[in-house]
Amino acid sequence: MLTIDQKLTFDQKLDNLATLALRVGVNLQPGQRLALGGPVESLDLLRRIAKQAYAFGAPHVHVEIIDEQMGLIRALHAHEDTLDAADEERTEMVRSKMERGDAYLRVTGSDPDLMAPADPARVARMAKAASIANRPVSDLVQRSHMPWTIVAYATPAWARKAFPELPEEEAVAKLWDAIFAATRADVADPVAAWDAHLAQLQRANDHLNARGYVALHLMAPGTDLRLGLADTHVWESGGSNALVNGARFVANMPTEEVFTAPHAHRVDGTIASSKPLSYQGQLIDRFQLTFRDGAVVAVTAEQGQAALEKLLEIDEGSRRLGEIALVPHQSPISQSGLLFFNTLFDENAACHVALGRAYETTMKDGTTRSLEELQADGFNQSFTHVDFMFGSDALDVDGEKPDGTREAVMRGGAWSF
Ligand code: ZN
Ligand code: ZN
Repeated sequence: MLTIDQKLTFDQKLDNLATLALRVGVNLQPGQRLALGGPVESLDLLRRIAKQAYAFGAPHVHVEIIDEQMGLIRALHAHEDTLDAADEERTEMVRSKMERGDAYLRVTGSDPDLMAPADPARVARMAKAASIANRPVSDLVQRSHMPWTIVAYATPAWARKAFPELPEEEAVAKLWDAIFAATRADVADPVAAWDAHLAQLQRANDHLNARGYVALHLMAPGTDLRLGLADTHVWESGGSNALVNGARFVANMPTEEVFTAPHAHRVDGTIASSKPLSYQGQLIDRFQLTFRDGAVVAVTAEQGQAALEKLLEIDEGSRRLGEIALVPHQSPISQSGLLFFNTLFDENAACHVALGRAYETTMKDGTTRSLEELQADGFNQSFTHVDFMFGSDALDVDGEKPDGTREAVMRGGAWSF
């Protein structure tokens, strides 16, 4: 194990996070441009990233500074008949940068309760219009056309939600500690720490690909699900290779998951959430979904049922699964015992599935085959992709081989191999 270097100052750790985002996250290459974006609260990190990118030789860093309050303001005040409008020109600008092969780096730190004052139906309409307009961008992202990554910044609103019992300043400091630990930014050589971590993920990844399961059986309190895997699915973890330059990039920092594509029409049984889902500023908690032939046919939620139903109504694909991800219960984020109210962290705390679109990269030759071909193999198509967690130390997972026999993949939330 790596030892934490107690001598690192906050500034050094924040610089490490910037270094990781550039060197491991998007793996910036000499001469490559950077498209950088994040909330206005994260300016300190955005500036450090820009400084390192220029020092490394980037010809230009495009910066998009976002005030998330503007989304809430629109949800509260825009006229009902205008909610389907979206910013196509902004999509076109980002798309052209991505098409050229600029590295795309996003800083996130959303207030989990941002949209709570708004009507979920209005928020859902805005989100649907945005994801339709954003389709040319999400296509490039999902196909790994160019390197991209997401890292986190401890904004005050997020920290207050994660540590409601603490005064704001202490909450922010605690959230930073958790972010630095989860992203391995608190060690003296964070790039070497990531190389070792990615090699560990690769071991589990290679095992699952070698076994060739056709389905997984998920068993836990409230969960009994046979989850068929897409024909020609491949397991993926940690890094991907960008089509534009072949460079390995790590799309999420942290990342602890090994994941692949479920079959859109072969999921049957019931799955229970093990942690709350923060969706568009709404908290959905203690929910259960029942599937038949791949589609959700029944849903109950102790909290946030309306928001969950809206999510399922976005389109045909939002009722089906596009991702199954296995995360050992021993992962550092899981062991922290914290609920971050941020998918980037919480989805790496536990096994999860996603409602909505699958990733082309989790299908054999998925970035070069047509969508129709992929769909024939069970690939799910949707405008949305929303992860929720079902993993815990009470989870058992079996792999089903083509001959119908089963073998252990996880017991008590830990790898069995
Ligand atoms: Zn995932
Ligand atoms: Zn996901």
